[in-house]
Amino acid sequence: MGRIGSDDAGMVRIDENAGFYDDERTGEHGSEHSDAAGSETGPVRMGATRRAFLSASAASAGAVAMVPLTAAGAAASTAGPPGPGAPVTPQPPDAELRAMLREVDHRRIEATVRRLVAFGTRHTLSSQDDPVRGIGAARDWIFEQLQGYAAASDGRMRVEKQSYLQPLAPRIPTPTVISNVIATLRGDTAPNRTYVVTGHYDSRVTDVLNFTSDAPGADDDASGVAVAMELARIVATRHTEATIVFAAVAGEEQGLYGSTHMAQQYKAAGADIQGMFSNDIVGSSTDEKGIRHPRTVRLFAEGVPTSETPAQAAIRQSIGGENDSTSRQLSRFVLDVAQNRSTGMEVRVIWRRDRYLRGSDHVPFLREGFPACRFTEPNENYAHEHQDVRVENGVQFGDLVEFCDFPYIARVARVNLATLWSLAQAPGTPKGVKIDTSRLTNQSTLLWDPAAEADLAGYEVLWRETTAPNWTHVIPVGNVTTVTIDLNKDHVMFGVRAVDTAGHRSPAAFPLPT
Ligand SMILES: [Zn+2]
Repeated sequence: MGRIGSDDAGMVRIDENAGFYDDERTGEHGSEHSDAAGSETGPVRMGATRRAFLSASAASAGAVAMVPLTAAGAAASTAGPPGPGAPVTPQPPDAELRAMLREVDHRRIEATVRRLVAFGTRHTLSSQDDPVRGIGAARDWIFEQLQGYAAASDGRMRVEKQSYLQPLAPRIPTPTVISNVIATLRGDTAPNRTYVVTGHYDSRVTDVLNFTSDAPGADDDASGVAVAMELARIVATRHTEATIVFAAVAGEEQGLYGSTHMAQQYKAAGADIQGMFSNDIVGSSTDEKGIRHPRTVRLFAEGVPTSETPAQAAIRQSIGGENDSTSRQLSRFVLDVAQNRSTGMEVRVIWRRDRYLRGSDHVPFLREGFPACRFTEPNENYAHEHQDVRVENGVQFGDLVEFCDFPYIARVARVNLATLWSLAQAPGTPKGVKIDTSRLTNQSTLLWDPAAEADLAGYEVLWRETTAPNWTHVIPVGNVTTVTIDLNKDHVMFGVRAVDTAGHRSPAAFPLPT
């Protein structure tokens, strides 16, 4: 069931078989419809996308805007409590994004997964110089593929092997070179602002130190690598405003080593990473009972930040900011732009950093203070993860390619593509967002730093009840850097987002007290 339903009374229920999804036209998964109707968790609930957006120019006169309780409030009765503004509606994909989403090719994704499996094992401790078998051959193949995509980018996409020597550690019995393969597509107008998508190309079996047995790693995580590579292929030929990084990282199964090195390098370089997504185990739509959930992907998003300092914790506790971390705002943005008929997917946001006992490559980015989330399939089959390939009591164990659902992986890729493209074309998340706490008042004054984007149109204030999961109301405030809203800050949660002249909205920034 849709997770955005409770706060949006304008949601409509649309049956999967009613020609709802754009990707039906491609015919790519015609066979799915014969068996999906009885096995899907239910019709996906989508927000009404045709509702008109409010003009962002309503209150652009002067540097300070005042939005009274009654202004533009007529439409608010359909979502959440009464108050200023209009109901929040999803951002529909524009024509260029829709064209790109149709280019996502499940046959290419299948070819990538099968090629990665064919390296036998991609264990971090396996051979780095055997041209046929082992992680070195996989590393070089990924590098060559990305180089091929970059050739179509007019020099804007740069591909590198980012290597370092990992010293001894519990799962590293001998010093080992760990190499991430990274394709960076430089943004045209905001190249310092960066978004990252990863899969990990290393694999494992039951014994985490066994680097000789076949470790196909089809779902974990050739599927995630295939997502990142397919996005690199499609986006390489396009122009983005911000920079997007498509990466196959290594050493994940031994302890998140490759992504840790990558995140630390970005931190040391002062990189402005405004969003990161790990795609890890996105290969199967079938749960261990054999039931398919082909139109759902989970998105794990932490609340209390991993990187929080004691001083930041004290502020969070004083204002109730547990549900407004940068990663939660990023997950709300995913719902905003990627849960729609063009992706054909429901995004099930889960308010945790990751699953019990598990972690992935978003965690090192969280440690460095970057907003980061993890995509993963709706239900895992643990007989297919981290297992020696074998048959036991008639049950096939192992992470085999035959358990992958390639049209499903393609839809996960579409969710990622809609997210990353929308992030890279929108203004950056507003910075320096504050709420005035210099005196007690029944109104709320917000202020923020002016954005640098040349195509900036202005800003919108978002708000919701403190108990609501997602933003319910939006107030266009124009191109200002402070605004007073006729709502008591004790009663609701506020966010501020930027809007460009094409109507692209940024993720929201949660204000801190002045
Ligand atoms: Zn994994």
